[in-house]
Amino acid sequence: MTDDFAWFARDGEPLLQPVWKLMREQQELLLSPFWSASAGFLVHVFFSTLFMVLDLLSPHILCIGKYRLSGEAVSVRQWLACLAHISLGYAVGVLPLTVLVQAARGSSFPDKELPAPSVFVAFSECFSCLLVFDTLFFIVHYAVHRFPWLYRTFHQAHHTHRDPFALAAQKSSVVELMVQQSLALSTAALLGCHPVSEVLFHLVNLWLAAEDHCGYDFPWGLHRLLPCFGGAPFHHAHHLHFQGNYAPYFRHWDLIFGTRLY
Ligand SMILES: [Zn+2]
Ligand SMILES: [Zn+2]
Repeated sequence: MTDDFAWFARDGEPLLQPVWKLMREQQELLLSPFWSASAGFLVHVFFSTLFMVLDLLSPHILCIGKYRLSGEAVSVRQWLACLAHISLGYAVGVLPLTVLVQAARGSSFPDKELPAPSVFVAFSECFSCLLVFDTLFFIVHYAVHRFPWLYRTFHQAHHTHRDPFALAAQKSSVVELMVQQSLALSTAALLGCHPVSEVLFHLVNLWLAAEDHCGYDFPWGLHRLLPCFGGAPFHHAHHLHFQGNYAPYFRHWDLIFGTRLY
């Protein structure tokens, strides 16, 4: 966790030191039982609202509408119904789960002397988490499509919308929502990430999930910069065909297992 890239440091301290200092000062809130689920829910709704604004504008502004992958933009009524569905899932599933996880993790950050990670380490750990999460998600997602009972019981709710929208990234059965949350939490714990990297991973994870489902192939999509990512067109194809492209972010697992749609 030292300064791997000195030019990212300022006055000899990691650039992320103020972030880490702030997290320490707010650790009572950040490690409280209700924070994790509440923050995850609010951040997802915030990211989805940004895409909802684009959805509302797209019929009127050609330069947005031309990036639409298929179908019509979501209506406010559909969006609110989806929000109610996700809120219920968080209230009865994710919140109790994360309260239990937080009780097990304790109420203080480990090792008071631990410095902030360098920017390089934070992004490396975040990228590693995305790779592991992507692998675990691929296995679970492949299984629920492989076995009809699992699909009907746990995953069908996610496929309600053939043309998905950002908020619908978390429109799932309560059990599936809890499984996805468990995968994200256990990924960061498994890799022993710095708490700053873990927060970064959860934020990037929420953003990518929203972007995957947004229904647009925008030029700023991460998959345009890094071709190892599938992006919205990749996951959109999964929703259109109800099979294939099982990995949420990267292309390699579907390529290896022959489940890639294009
Ligand atoms: Zn699916
Ligand atoms: Zn999806």
